[in-house]
Amino acid sequence: MQKTGIMESSTFEMTSLFPTFKKCKFCPRFLIEFQEEELERHFYCHECQKLTLWRANTTLKCMSISIHTFWLLINLFIENKPALETYHDLNSNLINYHISEKTVRRYFKILKKICYQYYLEEHENTILEGHVEIDETQLYRMKKSFARGRPYVYNVWLIGFRERGSSRCLIFPTETRCESFFLPLLLAHVKPESTIYTDCFSVYVNNSNLLPQSKLQNHRYIHKYVNHKITFVNKHFPDIHTNTIERLWKSVKEHTRKHKVKKLFNLCLGRFYFHRTMEKKDQLKYLIKNLQNEYINYFDIEFNY
Ligand SMILES: [Zn+2]
Repeated sequence: MQKTGIMESSTFEMTSLFPTFKKCKFCPRFLIEFQEEELERHFYCHECQKLTLWRANTTLKCMSISIHTFWLLINLFIENKPALETYHDLNSNLINYHISEKTVRRYFKILKKICYQYYLEEHENTILEGHVEIDETQLYRMKKSFARGRPYVYNVWLIGFRERGSSRCLIFPTETRCESFFLPLLLAHVKPESTIYTDCFSVYVNNSNLLPQSKLQNHRYIHKYVNHKITFVNKHFPDIHTNTIERLWKSVKEHTRKHKVKKLFNLCLGRFYFHRTMEKKDQLKYLIKNLQNEYINYFDIEFNY
């Protein structure tokens, strides 16, 4: 195998892929004694006198690429590289890892599923407080198609909650932006007494009266809203705006454009959220921890939406 700068610099950390202990493949014991063979860690069981490979019973049990190549894939994934660009990086004139585009996509999909799991965990547990901007945006409008299997119009809206002064945010995809979808999310994820900033969209504000009236104040929130038809920042109250969450929408859209997502947008959103809210070293740790998990096989989880 050719030696390259990228490979040498990451060789040391590559060992972090290996768990420190492992369940024996042949008996219920946990093993800590290991030996390296052909750059891969094997755990030794004195009782069975057999070796267990570090990735036995995990998603990577049948890994068809070298551990070097896989390590590079993880690092390029954390750099937010799209699969196609990664494929070109690994098959340039300088470096050639002999990896197909299909293989890159296959391993990236495993990593994306782990990101999506993180996204789901965060969207179940997070409660925002203080000053929270709320807004919605249309991610894309699916074209009307009469092709078999997709005979309907499929819109994707995002409803976002962005806490000011921190990196915390929540993004929920939906097909319609109605009150019955929004209100339970608000009550579950924003602490009462928080200050909420929105525009005058009818879900947040009752516009049927002469003066617009907040619909959220009844739920123990302080609600400040700006009418985007008139202005984007209220000049008498410059803190009333939704600019922070508008910037978040800009990044989401850049991400989906960069990755050319047409289907499996949930996986893409999960990946965006993962890169956006976690430090790179924590991303690496999280991916590694889940790749070592013996109880989940990320190959088997199917995503059809
Ligand atoms: Zn054993």
